[in-house]
Amino acid sequence: MKNIIYIICFSFFLLTVSFNGAGLKQYRLKKVVIDAGHGGKDPGTHGVFSKEKDIALNIALELGRIIEENMKDVEVIYTRKDDQFIELEQRAAIANQNDADVFISIHANAIGIKSVHGTETYVMGTNKIEGNIEVAKRENAVILMEENYEERYEGFDPLSPESHILFSLYQHAYLNNSLLLAGKIEKQFKERVGRRSRGVKQDGFWVLWRTSMPSVLVEVGYLTNTTEEKYLNDRLGRVYLASGIYRALRDYKAEIESMN
Ligand SMILES: [Zn+2]
Repeated sequence: MKNIIYIICFSFFLLTVSFNGAGLKQYRLKKVVIDAGHGGKDPGTHGVFSKEKDIALNIALELGRIIEENMKDVEVIYTRKDDQFIELEQRAAIANQNDADVFISIHANAIGIKSVHGTETYVMGTNKIEGNIEVAKRENAVILMEENYEERYEGFDPLSPESHILFSLYQHAYLNNSLLLAGKIEKQFKERVGRRSRGVKQDGFWVLWRTSMPSVLVEVGYLTNTTEEKYLNDRLGRVYLASGIYRALRDYKAEIESMN
């Protein structure tokens, strides 16, 4: 009788161990890919005295530094750490191959009206939230600088609105988490960094479309606005913006890990 009880207890113990091992895998945010937009022969947009590719790289490196310093359990992977040209497809591939948990792409904005300023954070898709197709078209247009783009992007024309509408079906699986992170970034910019937040928006960005994880594209400000261009070129301004993105990521990580 005693032996039977031992066997039952031992079987129960084995069951518990195997259940914990296989069934209760805890979700952890472990890898972040930081993507500095543009680079090399692609300067992106520009202001009076600065280029988008340099602003994006500076903020990306600052963000990575803050994450590495404060989140020892998170690995930071950059798509570029210097002034080099990287194709859009390659940026998404770096995130996918590294099995990243989050993809953050950093950009700066431009428009013909000099008074327009503020931050915007985009997630992939269309329709749900008011988008700005001009921004997506501009950010996607780099494809035209890449070799053999006709074959590689399967007839996708970065300048046609129809191509952008096709995007709406993709990245759907990660939309809720992407929106969660995007909302936290804009909230930080508005409430803690003191920027004018133009809100969370949705549109068809190629670089976000091909990533297999929650992904956001942050437009940190308008280089065509004189005051904002100065802010984006000021070291302290860049640290404030990077810190805002860091705090949003930290809150996002805590929130999704607490859902385990
Ligand atoms: Zn850009």
